[in-house]
Amino acid sequence: MAYILSVFAVRNLLVLSLALNVSLILRVLLLHDSQDGSFNGFFFAEQKEEALANKITRLSSSVAPSSSLTMAQGDEDRVINLDHGDPTMYESYWQKKGDETTVVIPGWQFMSYFSDATRLCWFLEPEFAKQIVRLHNVVGNAVTENRHIVVGTGSTQLFQAALYALSPCAEAEPISVVSAAPYYSSYPLITDCLKSRLYKWAGDARSFSKNGPYIELVTSPNNPDGFARRSVVNGSEGILIHDLAYYWPQYTPISSPANYDLMLFTVSKSTGHAGMRIGWALVKDEDVARKMTKYIEINTIGVSKDSQVRAAKVLKVISDNSEGPNEGDSFFEFSYRVMAKRWKQLREAVQQSGLFSVSDFPPQLCMFLNRVFEPQPAFAWIKCEGDIEDCESFLRGKKILTRGGKHFGVSPKYVRISMLDRDKNYETFVRRLSTIRS
Ligand code: PMP
Repeated sequence: MAYILSVFAVRNLLVLSLALNVSLILRVLLLHDSQDGSFNGFFFAEQKEEALANKITRLSSSVAPSSSLTMAQGDEDRVINLDHGDPTMYESYWQKKGDETTVVIPGWQFMSYFSDATRLCWFLEPEFAKQIVRLHNVVGNAVTENRHIVVGTGSTQLFQAALYALSPCAEAEPISVVSAAPYYSSYPLITDCLKSRLYKWAGDARSFSKNGPYIELVTSPNNPDGFARRSVVNGSEGILIHDLAYYWPQYTPISSPANYDLMLFTVSKSTGHAGMRIGWALVKDEDVARKMTKYIEINTIGVSKDSQVRAAKVLKVISDNSEGPNEGDSFFEFSYRVMAKRWKQLREAVQQSGLFSVSDFPPQLCMFLNRVFEPQPAFAWIKCEGDIEDCESFLRGKKILTRGGKHFGVSPKYVRISMLDRDKNYETFVRRLSTIRS
């Protein structure tokens, strides 16, 4: 009897240990994938489920001894995920800079909630504020005089703070929020996420004709299509938010300093440090800046000081190198060259394949780089020609993951492709794209 019991107990233990191991492998796989950017989830619940299903299939096949995954996959076979605009292409530059941007923070530092209690935005680190102003002056892409700076956990938080600050609170109905299609796919999701009584997504600005106040989001250069933009609604009660995440010289010629009431910027797309989660708003109206600050106070009681200090260091190095004797090695020279090369490769691949098309952009003089060039956006907005109706599915069939037109309020014949991935992924992508025939 004792023998039977002990065998039974050992068997139970084995089963339990197997179950624990499988769950551990599943966790490691999910974590790994979310870290290398191939996790297909944020902002797209349905894609998240699909990704999870794929992972579970992969897991079940990876535990089988003869699984194809246990064999080394050729580069030509692997899935290339260009759905997110994860700016990993910049890593190599910052790696080369070595310790220039290293920040060491002793354990006792930055413990308080407050950065400067006398400022309107009391959680804004003074050194970060200083470097923001300096960089805008060096690049010449935004007016900073007579502006309040509000720092946010990415410009995503600032966008929400701006909606909160700009919505009239006495109106019976939520204010309409619009943007011209194709618009940044996160705008409708963020706007309607909490089903606010203050504001409501109202779609494509070009077909908006309601009377009364509205908020129009102007993204310039635009995500996804890269074109420079102005507001399009012809109403008298419009309030504008200018999202200038891509108004930097690696993406577009800087023709003049942007001079709008509320401008949003982010390190994610300017320096490539998306993981810092730092953005800033330049705000003309004091009350609006105060309300945005209040929103961030209610939402997250400020913004990580560690991140602000790190961001300040990165902006400082960019400004120093743009002005100093090593100008040729400056961040914007490097990123401009990479983008120029990638756009040339993309256009060649599109031509070779013959199945796709991509827009041309008018060249302009960049006052910062002092040269004339065509915009070279952070995303390629590609159209599948001929009878391919669903470009995203078509490319998924070729193991290229993109974001389809419907997420941006337009036809599924379009897809958005990130141009900011690491060299290896990008090279594989253009090579594969050039060989696609049908
Ligand atoms: N605005 C636009 C137009 C963007 O493309 C992005 C990033 N994809 C953001 C805002 C969000 O930036 P952040 O990482 O600072 O939240």
